[in-house]
Amino acid sequence: MKNIYDFTLEQLGDEMESLGQKRYRATQLFIWLYKKKATSFDEMSDVAKSFRDVLKEKYYIYIPKITQKQVAQDGTVKLLVEMQDGINVETVLMPYDYGNSICVSSQVGCAMGCKFCASGLLKRQRSLSAGEMLGQVLAMEQALPTKTVTHIVVMGIGEPFDNYENVLDFIRIANNPKGLEIGARHISVSTCGIVPKILDYANEGLQVNLAISLHAPNNEIRNTLMPINKTYPLEVLIPAVKEYEKITDRRVTFEYIMLKGVNDSLEQAEELAKLVQGMNAYVNLIPYNKVGESPFERTSNNQVHLFADYLKKCGVGVTIRKEFGDDIAAACGQLRAKKEGIIK
Ligand code: SAH
Repeated sequence: MKNIYDFTLEQLGDEMESLGQKRYRATQLFIWLYKKKATSFDEMSDVAKSFRDVLKEKYYIYIPKITQKQVAQDGTVKLLVEMQDGINVETVLMPYDYGNSICVSSQVGCAMGCKFCASGLLKRQRSLSAGEMLGQVLAMEQALPTKTVTHIVVMGIGEPFDNYENVLDFIRIANNPKGLEIGARHISVSTCGIVPKILDYANEGLQVNLAISLHAPNNEIRNTLMPINKTYPLEVLIPAVKEYEKITDRRVTFEYIMLKGVNDSLEQAEELAKLVQGMNAYVNLIPYNKVGESPFERTSNNQVHLFADYLKKCGVGVTIRKEFGDDIAAACGQLRAKKEGIIK
């Protein structure tokens, strides 16, 4: 049995043809699944009963079961949802002025091992399928019937470019006008910097956004924070991002967690400004969310602002990330790590 949510419209067209049907069946199914939010084949009243029986034999419709729900004072909602094999995944909805943004997990655990991140504590168990990523959106919509998801960020647990094909299929289904119909410009993917995939992503012809987890202005510091930097150091990563900008004409975001005494001095701001000089990029400064026994401390708000001002003076676009849900441990991996007893 296959998960019906795993298929892009194109792939579902192929499936229908292989069952001796016309391709338009796929569009019909998409409309039932994503527009009318059908949760069983029997609801699909304009599909002949005999063909519904065929569908039921080949495919299943499963929306992940909500096993925990936390609502923060600021309206952030965090869910732990259970996939068919019993594995639990985190997903978070953040209310912005411009809409509701869901943060989707792309893997169960993560193999990248960034030193400041709770997800790495969980190791990578497996990647999620496109349908399991869509399932997070559908589960969130079921949990919050009055809210519509308008934006998607693939910034939850996992490294999306370590699960490239499934993430891309997920985006295609989310973006399809017959699917969830979320505009490409409302979809962002965040990567720790897997260079070959950045270049593949540039050539997909999608108008989706890209964020790079940079977190350091030089290799020396980045090597200590992010093991991936040993494989794709800055002299490889930065030209790839420039190439991405050239191909897509899209502005890239550099994420930069402010870690006290590690990467937050004004000299480091200067180094960072030089690194991104000449790019149509901007830097998103992220207040650090301390997890478990982490050796890192958060930079003071005052220093974050001085750092931001310095970057601005150098002509670098900069924003300071708004924090959500700090009363419900909404940082990556925290909820699941707690459930598994890995952090308190
Ligand atoms: N693997 C991808 C996406 C998941 S992490 C990536 O590396 O981009 C999403 C973002 O949250 C990344 O920028 C990551 O570095 C950041 N992050 C991880 N742990 C954090 C913490 N404890 N506090 C603040 N940001 C964190």
